[in-house]
Amino acid sequence: EAKSRGRGSAIIYDPAMEELKQERGRIELDLRSALANGEFELHYQPLHELATDRIAGFEALLRWRHPERGLIPPDVFIPIAEQTGLIVTLGEWVLREALSEAATWPEDMTVAVNVSPAQMTDFTLLKQVISALSASGFDAHRLELEITETMLMQECDEHLRQLERLHALGVRIALDDFGTGYSSLNYLRSFPFDKIKIDRCFITEISAGSESSAIIEAVLDLANKLNMQTIAEGVESEEQLASLRTLGCEQVQGYLISKAVPADMLPIERSGARKIEATSQFRPVLAE
Ligand code: C2E
Ligand code: MG
Ligand code: MG
Ligand code: MG
Repeated sequence: EAKSRGRGSAIIYDPAMEELKQERGRIELDLRSALANGEFELHYQPLHELATDRIAGFEALLRWRHPERGLIPPDVFIPIAEQTGLIVTLGEWVLREALSEAATWPEDMTVAVNVSPAQMTDFTLLKQVISALSASGFDAHRLELEITETMLMQECDEHLRQLERLHALGVRIALDDFGTGYSSLNYLRSFPFDKIKIDRCFITEISAGSESSAIIEAVLDLANKLNMQTIAEGVESEEQLASLRTLGCEQVQGYLISKAVPADMLPIERSGARKIEATSQFRPVLAE
């Protein structure tokens, strides 16, 4: 087949590439039934507040417990779910599950949910959030949506209007992975984010006097002036924690505090009962 394309454009058969393509195809097939089979679960990682040394809330992180492959991390299946459009239904499940779980937490705790750009079309995210809030009875002010810069890149106006509508409901909007995109600073002008999540790559190299340390300091200063809350991602050592404390970062998240754990392992006192049994009562708002 490669030969028939002629000399100039000959494609070399690459078994590794072919294997990867087949692997992707299998995952894609399995993904289609995974939601109906109840193979997804959310794990929760604490957002630790430095001033009070308490847990301010948790970020919900999606996991896929594949019957044969075991736990598959989101970096593997989310890109596929995004390309196939499955992320829209999956994202709705995440919202419902996270909110029904968080409705049982102490009332001062927030839940952070990651959303994908694909959820933004046709005001889908707004509809999904409204429906998940009403199903769970969860207070909108305790919900934080984590978005990345790629979400603001396309169709800026409509996306911004949607974020504004969410804001008007009381939902907080956090800019995730801050500093890794092409024009991070520009996005700070486009929308009044409530929170900036400084990407792990800066925290990894935070040693005193480093470029990363100077950048973090500048970002914290900027966030303060723009009235945005700050959190550092990927904190793994006491040294990093100490530096962030000195620099005045408000919250930290990372393996030093805790990895993401299943809901039943959270170190909290439950206040309420689950309002909905998310897996059994889940119905997509928008049929596929
Ligand atoms: P993210 O939103 O930036 O989440 C932080 C990631 O860093 C998580 O990886 C978390 O487990 C990991 N992490 C936390 N602390 C540390 C640390 O101290 N060291 C290191 N090395 N890593 C740490 P995870 O759970 O594998 O998620 C990866 C990405 O997948 C997330 O990055 C997010 O972009 C995406 N994702 C996860 N859940 C969802 C979801 O429900 N919906 C969507 N659309 N995306 C999701
Ligand atoms: Mg996140
Ligand atoms: Mg992040
Ligand atoms: Mg990330």
